[in-house]
Amino acid sequence: MARFFSFFLFSLNLAFAHTQIPAEEGYFWYRGNTHTHAEYSDNSEINDVPMIARWYREAGYNFLLLSEHNNHLLARKIFCYDRLSRPKENFIMICGLELSMSRHITALGIDRFLSGEKSLQEAVNMTLASGGVPILNHPMDPVVTARKFIETEGLNHIEIVNGGRLTDTPASIALWDSVMSEPGGRIIYAVAADDNHYNRQRVGRGWIMVKAKSLTKSEIRESIRSGNFYPTTGVILDSYMAEKDSFHVISQNGDTIKFFGRYGKLLGTQAGKDASYRFRGDELYVRAEVSNRQGKTAWTQPVMVKGGTNQ
Ligand SMILES: [Zn+2]
Ligand SMILES: [Zn+2]
Repeated sequence: MARFFSFFLFSLNLAFAHTQIPAEEGYFWYRGNTHTHAEYSDNSEINDVPMIARWYREAGYNFLLLSEHNNHLLARKIFCYDRLSRPKENFIMICGLELSMSRHITALGIDRFLSGEKSLQEAVNMTLASGGVPILNHPMDPVVTARKFIETEGLNHIEIVNGGRLTDTPASIALWDSVMSEPGGRIIYAVAADDNHYNRQRVGRGWIMVKAKSLTKSEIRESIRSGNFYPTTGVILDSYMAEKDSFHVISQNGDTIKFFGRYGKLLGTQAGKDASYRFRGDELYVRAEVSNRQGKTAWTQPVMVKGGTNQ
């Protein structure tokens, strides 16, 4: 019996690892983590990178970015772990680094090793120039102001959930709303990530679900660049979309849906797995938070409301 049970669990695990969750019109949802560290890069000779990749694969992730601190890799210059990808099991490694010589950002999907950045703007420029997507990490540590964020050209992604700093989430969300609401602001996409430092217990504190046509490095990178993804700590969304005059959210396991607008103003609360919000026209943008009794939350990316202005 025990043997049968462990075989059954093993089969379940494999089945989950092979999963591609269908989305609409030929798209799938892929689960991934953009912020993880291995001991190997922390000036250590212990190469635990394959083990960490296996943890995420076995937890049902489809992609992982080992975002090592670039200042710890100046000798090794590693930024890619392609050989750990298992395409037949629907699991790939995304190339990247955590640029750490100035303000920490994840450089996602870059095509070369990067170092020597002296400012946030330089880190963003270097990431973009090497084909990557820059994500501002743990925005409360140290604090980045909304003004500084807005002035940083090409920065469009913010980590609102950091597995090592979960109590920062409300302040990070307030910053996200401010960057979109202040004069000269713009739409910003939110990310959730583990910032895992070689601890299996910390797998799954926060992740993103990316909507893409297939599981390739370029499809995942470009879907993240254009905001085709959402951050979550455990609530799964089937879809969210804006129509001409309303915004619809459908979740699998949420029970409360809140809609927010300019400066994080609460626009409405609805109970249930799915909800709709009718635009009034003066919200500037609308985004939704879907939570459940288990304390898990998913955040939709914001949609601009026609006619809104933050000038
Ligand atoms: Zn960091
Ligand atoms: Zn980190």
